[in-house]
Amino acid sequence: MTPLVLDINLVNPAFHKKHFTYTGDFGPGSPNTPVLEFHHISEWREYLLTLQIRSAKVPGIHADAYHVALHMLLLAWADASLIKPAELQGLRSSEAALTGVYFQPIFEREKGRREKARKTCGGCKKCLLCSKLDRETFRPGLDKLLNYMVAHDCLDRTLHNENKKASGNALSVIRNVLAHGDISSGGLPWGGLFEAIREVMEHACRSFPEPPEYPPEVLAVLGVQRSPTLQ
Ligand SMILES: [Zn+2]
Repeated sequence: MTPLVLDINLVNPAFHKKHFTYTGDFGPGSPNTPVLEFHHISEWREYLLTLQIRSAKVPGIHADAYHVALHMLLLAWADASLIKPAELQGLRSSEAALTGVYFQPIFEREKGRREKARKTCGGCKKCLLCSKLDRETFRPGLDKLLNYMVAHDCLDRTLHNENKKASGNALSVIRNVLAHGDISSGGLPWGGLFEAIREVMEHACRSFPEPPEYPPEVLAVLGVQRSPTLQ
């Protein structure tokens, strides 16, 4: 993990002092402050630093990707239109981290399901369940990943459950709305979103003795490639 540096001088010092509000965290066990107020960018920076990844077990590539979101939030002090892209970046980083941890068990389970379905339908190729699962293209997606964590890896149910999905504030639903909707149209920030993302990532990676060595197919799923070089 690259240490997180949030440099307030990236924002024009003429704008450092102002009144800035952000939605507070309504999550379980968190202070129910509906609106957080800041009067100087250094206060905002202090707050953002509290949102950083605390666990060294989260692999550097994912922690760094999550911290890109905090960089964007720092700049959102000057330009609030960066808040929604920052939320999407945070959610994408958690999806990548969770994919790294749970790809294999979810893939195996899905494979088993399809084999079972093939036995029932005889390989009809119409029910979608009986089609062959391709390891290279299989993407569990944030909803399956979180469902799996709740069912099999002791994720706190207050972080992901059916009620949240129904009311549209489950991480997976927020991610889909941001990814497929109009990110530029703004809207209020999601209170407690980054706290929840970090909680989920740190939980998923909590039993890593060291940052893991991913096999090539998992790296391919994560979209990690070698740096392009000009030749
Ligand atoms: Zn079938």
